[in-house]
Amino acid sequence: MNTNTLTRLEDALEHILQHVPMLADTEEVALNHLSGRVISETVKAGINVPGYDNSAMDGFAVNTDYVKAVGTVLAISQIIPAGKTGVKLEAGTAARIFTGAPIPEGANAVILQEDTEYDTGQVKILQVPKVGQNIRLCGHDIKQGDSIFQQGHKLLPQDIGLLASLGIPKIKVYRPLKVAILNTGDELITPGQRLSPGQIYESNSYTLESLLNDLGMRTQKLGIVKDDLSATQDALLKAAKESDCIISSGGVSVGDADFVKNAVENLGALSLWKLAIKPGKPFSFGRVAEVPFFGLPGNPVAVFVTFLMLVKPYLLKMQGAQNIDPGKYCLPAGFEVSEAGSRQEFIRVRLDRNLQALIPFSHQGSSVMTSTSWADGLAIIPINTPVKKGDLLEFLPYSGLL
Ligand code: AMP
Ligand code: MG
Repeated sequence: MNTNTLTRLEDALEHILQHVPMLADTEEVALNHLSGRVISETVKAGINVPGYDNSAMDGFAVNTDYVKAVGTVLAISQIIPAGKTGVKLEAGTAARIFTGAPIPEGANAVILQEDTEYDTGQVKILQVPKVGQNIRLCGHDIKQGDSIFQQGHKLLPQDIGLLASLGIPKIKVYRPLKVAILNTGDELITPGQRLSPGQIYESNSYTLESLLNDLGMRTQKLGIVKDDLSATQDALLKAAKESDCIISSGGVSVGDADFVKNAVENLGALSLWKLAIKPGKPFSFGRVAEVPFFGLPGNPVAVFVTFLMLVKPYLLKMQGAQNIDPGKYCLPAGFEVSEAGSRQEFIRVRLDRNLQALIPFSHQGSSVMTSTSWADGLAIIPINTPVKKGDLLEFLPYSGLL
């Protein structure tokens, strides 16, 4: 590890994603607790969906051989509501049929009730039907034996509905990762307590806990750790015993009170330190004993950005997820930056839908958490690149990032 040069984000990502320990533990989980979980084995359909040819509309099931002209009148020989099966359609008649009801044998089209005039005994057809119209064929959505989800798929709410439609009550997923969070700083106190001069409220652990919980992961908060080498080591050792991954914030700069680097090196190793990104330069990665360790900066915006750009992809991969890409769009800058920066910048921006342009928050300081709440996402300014209005920038919306 060269401690003088700053590592670029793409190199840092390549490095940390190279050796991600894969979780082997799985558990069977019921549908109502599956959202956000990662599937550990391919799921196949045990049935066809739909399971039988059925009507897409309320109307009349007919055989097109008997309806060749507008004005044809057919006797109504049966009524088939959803949930019932009819009988073979008598030649030259129509079946009153409702949405979702099985198509009776002998029928090959459903005529919308709006395209008819009818009473209880007969129906006059006002539009000549085509073969197959308004019939949802057996298996047209899913065929029995189809692979529905591959191993590594992270389940979305609509996926849970799809599993239910296949009659699957539970499936195997990876157990949730357990991530330890510790926060260093003598100035920090917990919200709810009274502030003394020189103190600030500890907020990073709350951001991290929420980010992790939203990923379906479990957290273990080790609390506020004093700026002291042995206190830091004790907390890291406890975290390593009880978790799959450790995230710390603060104490990784080069100040006299920054003990995290030394503590990790005493207990394991650091393989990355300091990145060419803004905010987030004092980022470190390594291991405590054999447990992966992320040392995030102390500044709250840097915590937010480095978690999303580096820690989240790592944890998703560790959790078994295949897709770890947040999704990017190129959009025009609605602002200028005249001076090229030596670090890749993550600007908190809103997407102005009228201007179709990215608008930055007024204060981009790494301690200004308001910027993160105000924004719709992050825009990236590459290294050594001044920005003119209208230049296309990569935009990572929160909808893909969070
Ligand atoms: P450090 O990297 O420890 O020097 O911290 C950088 C800045 O982030 C300082 O202004 C700290 O007070 C602040 N900071 C560190 N940890 C936290 C935290 N957990 N919550 C809020 N602010 C923090
Ligand atoms: Mg500190």
